[in-house]
Amino acid sequence: MKNIHEILQHHFGYKAFRLNQQAVIENVLAKKDAVVLMPTGGGKSLCYQVPALALDGLTVVVSPLIALMKDQVDALRLNGVAAAFLNSTQSSFEQATITQQIRDNELKLLYVAPERLIGPNGMFSFLKQINVSLFAIDEAHCISHWGHDFRPEYVELGQLKTAFPFVPVIALTATADKLTKKDIIDKLALVSYSVFENSFNRPNISYFIQPKKNHFEALVQYIKQHKDDSGIIYCLSRASTESLAEKLQQQGFDAAAYHAGLERTLREKRQDQFLRDDLKIIVATIAFGMGINKSNVRYVVHADLPKNIEGYYQETGRAGRDGLPSEAILFYSSADVFKLKSFAKIEGNQAQSNIMLKKLDQMAALCETSICRRKYLLNYFDEAAPDFCGNCDTCLGEKTRSDHTIEAQKLLSAVSRLNQRFGLNYVIDFLRGSSTCKPEHQSLKTYSIGKDISKERWKAITKEMLQLQYLQQSDGEYPVLQLNEKSMQVLKGELTVMLTTSTSTSLQPAQQQYTTPEHLHKDLLSILKATRYQLAEEENVPAFQIFSDATLVELATYLPLTNTDLAKISGFGAIKLERYGNSFLDAILDYCVANDLATKINSKTPKRQRKLVVNEKTTDTKMASLQLFQQGTPVTEIAALRNLSAGTIEGHLAHFVFTGQVDVTDIVPKEKIKPIINAVEKNGNLIETGPVKQLLGETYSYGEIKAVISYMRRMKEG
Ligand code: ADP
Ligand code: ZN
Repeated sequence: MKNIHEILQHHFGYKAFRLNQQAVIENVLAKKDAVVLMPTGGGKSLCYQVPALALDGLTVVVSPLIALMKDQVDALRLNGVAAAFLNSTQSSFEQATITQQIRDNELKLLYVAPERLIGPNGMFSFLKQINVSLFAIDEAHCISHWGHDFRPEYVELGQLKTAFPFVPVIALTATADKLTKKDIIDKLALVSYSVFENSFNRPNISYFIQPKKNHFEALVQYIKQHKDDSGIIYCLSRASTESLAEKLQQQGFDAAAYHAGLERTLREKRQDQFLRDDLKIIVATIAFGMGINKSNVRYVVHADLPKNIEGYYQETGRAGRDGLPSEAILFYSSADVFKLKSFAKIEGNQAQSNIMLKKLDQMAALCETSICRRKYLLNYFDEAAPDFCGNCDTCLGEKTRSDHTIEAQKLLSAVSRLNQRFGLNYVIDFLRGSSTCKPEHQSLKTYSIGKDISKERWKAITKEMLQLQYLQQSDGEYPVLQLNEKSMQVLKGELTVMLTTSTSTSLQPAQQQYTTPEHLHKDLLSILKATRYQLAEEENVPAFQIFSDATLVELATYLPLTNTDLAKISGFGAIKLERYGNSFLDAILDYCVANDLATKINSKTPKRQRKLVVNEKTTDTKMASLQLFQQGTPVTEIAALRNLSAGTIEGHLAHFVFTGQVDVTDIVPKEKIKPIINAVEKNGNLIETGPVKQLLGETYSYGEIKAVISYMRRMKEG
């Protein structure tokens, strides 16, 4: 079997696996089934593409959308992987050719729709004659009634395990909830399986929610600053997509509308133009986006309020699949809530209406919240999150927090005095000494202790405290306020309660923040985008399939000038290096010469042999890990939050042991330090980790070894 790290580098040009990829792959190679839950952009595809290349035989990938199949196959072929799809759009000749290639063992991956695989005209008997190494079920939530895209054909996939009991099955989805997960396992009849679940956090997306006031001007302002970027603007109605697209065109922007009412060919044309960067802005209803895996969407704007958080998260999730900083902007007005309420009511189905209304309320609450937006979102999806993400308007904005422990204690003792049997409004009336309170309550000690604070402000305090879980609210039609463990700590004076100071509930315009790497050469980035566009035209594929934006950013940051250095850039596998390497090297070299950056380059030496001017890898990513670490977040949690492996985070932190910002004992248990030092000394240098690990064995991690080496370097270099 081929080495999976070699496959990763050779075919995909990536240096390291992302969180859980390696574990999933090893599980598959051990012939076990797996359910993989990763957010969009998490890197699900590699979880089956790498095993497909490592194993003998054919990996069959079940995928619901023809457009997606084609994209995946195109992308694989660009990386030199033998892949194909079978579907109804192909001629019988094409289909026969592919079948023959499979018989001749020439293909590693085959993409099919479920109905193609199973049923009377299915492929079971054919597949029985060949060596199938793996079944991968993409968008596996389609099998579940609970998911939002149920597809009856998917249910038939339950037959796979009976027909091919020894072929591993891997099911992948970005839909997380418990019911869907259970349904996937049950319906696929998985027996010996593991579940791999990543955090649903999208750390590279910044969330901004602004009041919908003069929002067209705000939008124009924003797009002006992002004129090279691809973006999606969602509107509620078909008519508003058209009118907004037109207004943007009048301002000189490259925008067009997209909705289900457009003629099919026009719709397809616009989608294709957008994918290929020939159209920068698509103004669409939510009909747009399903099956689009364009990785370089830099922003998603909601010009109108989405109906629920599931939709909002899915739509904003289309930004930044390449992992680069991206923005989600929503313009909020309570008028939208009002409008959507009328849509949410379903005649004759009270239960369903209630669900929709509740979801709408939760969406509005996200807009009005004063806590971190990311925390609110992750909590909504049942995931714990730190109070501060540093990358949403709340965390970046001007809302300052200050010590409100006294008010918090007043509120909590009122709840306690009232025996946790009253709702928010009554408790506030009680605090403010309202004469409407029951006579027996008016004689209690805490009655009216909060009369100096307005009703409005008490509401804001209570809501914020609920969101921060300093107390809780019961379910049901008449929810009551209740105390929890954190409340008790506040009452005992063990916890300080920091709340937002502002009394207004209106939203402040978000302060935008651009996190570009320190040494990024922006002009060069534009040149490289043009180079990529040219190559994409020649290959007849969307530009992002040639290289992701992430790769171009690395190029424009480290300025590689030789093939060896180019191979260090993420995304340059062997095939792409050979095919496209020179085009990019030339562009970078010309830029360096023109800008006097290449002082070390002698212009007379042949291009490819000139000496390099490479920047030290920027430490943005390391800084992000450090910040979380300093907030007390454990390494495994940082890894989950940042969608990286724990080993990578340890590597980041090891760097700060050298700079002195992190103490070696914070990362490595004390008793392990001495043995590591001994092993490093025995190995004889302060660079290699591999031989040291061999000396020490399994119980020592690379991260621990790196940290101690950094520590030793610090000692040595003073
Ligand atoms: P998903 O299907 O989970 O949304 P993809 O499989 O499309 O995600 O991966 C998202 C992007 O991340 C793609 O551009 C992919 O090439 C890239 N990617 C995946 N794994 C890695 C990795 N280990 N290192 C760098 N980039 C990766
Ligand atoms: Zn935040």
